[in-house]
Amino acid sequence: MSGLFWLALDGVGHPADAPPGSPWEQELPVLRPLIDQGMALDAALGVPGLPQSGTGQSCWLTGHDAVALMGEHFGPQPGPTLQRLLQQFSLPVRLTRAGARTALVNRYEPQYLAPPLPGTRGSGRNRLGCFPYSFRAAGLPLNPPGLPLLGATLGLGLERPWMTAPLPDLTQQGKVLGQAAQDWDLLVADLWFSDLLGHEGAPNVTPHSVVGQAARAYLRNLDALLTGLLDTGTRIILSSDHGNFEHLGVKTHTAARVPFAGAAVAYLPGGDVVAGGQAIALCCGLS
Ligand SMILES: [Zn+2]
Repeated sequence: MSGLFWLALDGVGHPADAPPGSPWEQELPVLRPLIDQGMALDAALGVPGLPQSGTGQSCWLTGHDAVALMGEHFGPQPGPTLQRLLQQFSLPVRLTRAGARTALVNRYEPQYLAPPLPGTRGSGRNRLGCFPYSFRAAGLPLNPPGLPLLGATLGLGLERPWMTAPLPDLTQQGKVLGQAAQDWDLLVADLWFSDLLGHEGAPNVTPHSVVGQAARAYLRNLDALLTGLLDTGTRIILSSDHGNFEHLGVKTHTAARVPFAGAAVAYLPGGDVVAGGQAIALCCGLS
């Protein structure tokens, strides 16, 4: 069986819960059919407040209800309680224990990985998000050697106005990653840039505004990446931890349902992000 490639979107609500004028309203010939054939999952888990990445991603990575464990939505980075959960139950940890091969294909800049100097602000605190934290907890390297690494901006610039010229075509990168996936049980891309763009939202943002155009370009590049991946026959899982990017009229996260979709994978359940995390583990051969 070929490897599984997990596109873990950050802060992208399902198009069915997006307001008019959202970045979803454009031609996305490969991405949109995949999403529409998949599920829209609840990320709120019956707890007041807006879903956050620390708890949301922990649900996806472990299949445990991290929001119930915390008693609230928490994030973006996992604190001590979620760190313990990820050390014990996250997918990279469980797969590595089972002798399976998994890697995080994100390309991290050296300054992200360098620890803050002792005595400076934040020096005693974990700064890694749930995905890099879990791979490290499994004893696996970030920026793993021998893999074609992916920038989470998907070819956009990290700073406003984010658009680069010419915008790269990510189809070829998708093909290279899809071919690499054949040698692995699970490759993961932690696509956090969509949440960053979502936080740039503001009242009266239009599709033609700077952030509106960048958000549309980001989804088009994701569509191209997915096209290349699917060309290689790779099995795909696509998820998201909470809403934000789909509603650029607000700066904050949203209570939107999130997409859970796949190609060449077993049945995907409806329900919530905890059920989604359990289903991904099953796709990887874990129970
Ligand atoms: Zn956020």
